[in-house]
Amino acid sequence: MHTSKRRQTTSIILFIILTLSVISSCGNGDRVAPESSASVQTENALIDSHIHLYLEEWNEALETSFIDMHERDNYRWFNICTHGLKWEWLKRQVEISKGVYSRHPEHFSWATSFNLENWGDSGWEKDAIDFIGDSFDNGAVAVKIWKEVGMELKDPDGSYVMIDDPRFTPVLDYIEERGQVLVCHLGEPRNCWLPLEEMTVNGDRNYFKNNPQYHAYKHPEIPSYEEQIAARDRILEQYPKLKVVGCHLGSLEYDTDEIAKRLDAYPNFAVDMAARIIHFKVQDREKVRKFLIDYQDRVLYATDITVRSADGFDDRLGTVSRVHSEDYRYFATDEMIRIDERDEPIQGLNLPDEVLKKLFTENAVKWYGI
Ligand SMILES: [Zn+2]
Repeated sequence: MHTSKRRQTTSIILFIILTLSVISSCGNGDRVAPESSASVQTENALIDSHIHLYLEEWNEALETSFIDMHERDNYRWFNICTHGLKWEWLKRQVEISKGVYSRHPEHFSWATSFNLENWGDSGWEKDAIDFIGDSFDNGAVAVKIWKEVGMELKDPDGSYVMIDDPRFTPVLDYIEERGQVLVCHLGEPRNCWLPLEEMTVNGDRNYFKNNPQYHAYKHPEIPSYEEQIAARDRILEQYPKLKVVGCHLGSLEYDTDEIAKRLDAYPNFAVDMAARIIHFKVQDREKVRKFLIDYQDRVLYATDITVRSADGFDDRLGTVSRVHSEDYRYFATDEMIRIDERDEPIQGLNLPDEVLKKLFTENAVKWYGI
């Protein structure tokens, strides 16, 4: 441990160091928490602002485990319900979210979404707004739009439906009217439109190698990366009063300068870093560090971890804890960290405490009003 860093640490860092030391002594991924965690981290609950409960099943025992973990580790979970083209599944996520929120609003917040299976039907827009409204009345604070818009949803003539399609206007107007947030995953990492050998991280390379159906480079009919980003930017332009959180670094993960350009142009825009921290790690350390300091009010910590099954539920929660701790180590310390992408370890960012507090807690509170 670094004594100079330790002097300036807050309780949250002490908590993470404790957690790391316990985890490294076990190393099996099982959920392990230091006994003193609750008392040392109470003032700054870590919020994972993009995470998914994708279970079909939910019961009291699962909820007890879930809330125990949150109380012990002082987390708050921002559950994002998604997939408008899988309507039954989406409804189940929403039902679970309403229930958990009603019983544990101190640990659980959530984003809803809406049906797209009925796209093109005369009643779809009213159905969408009614469903969103009911979600807001049950605690949802945001509406997720997923990449199926732009990359999957089509009109009968075969053309892809983009987010700036005027048929979305009533839905976006309604979110704005209710003072809630649009949380959007539009497009994909730029790597998705590149050949495998030009991709910047191994994770994307392996994913698209194994899932060629999603590799846009192989499907020229899918609108280009630039078109996806431009359609999203037009929404930011058209809705200056609508708060928008762009998932996955706003799909601009490959260069912090590109994110910065949008944050400068659109004060209503923030980004979460879900599943894209690796893209920070492979860029120049000083540039990333400066970006996070310069835009410390506009970036939300998030993982995009999915919990899919009641089987192994506690183990999966253990993974959540471990990932949170490892991520915090990267942002909070200057330790050397091994990543698959590089032969040499990379160095943690050692961000100032006030920036860490914003990234891990305060920005989610502020942007989502939770
Ligand atoms: Zn996600």
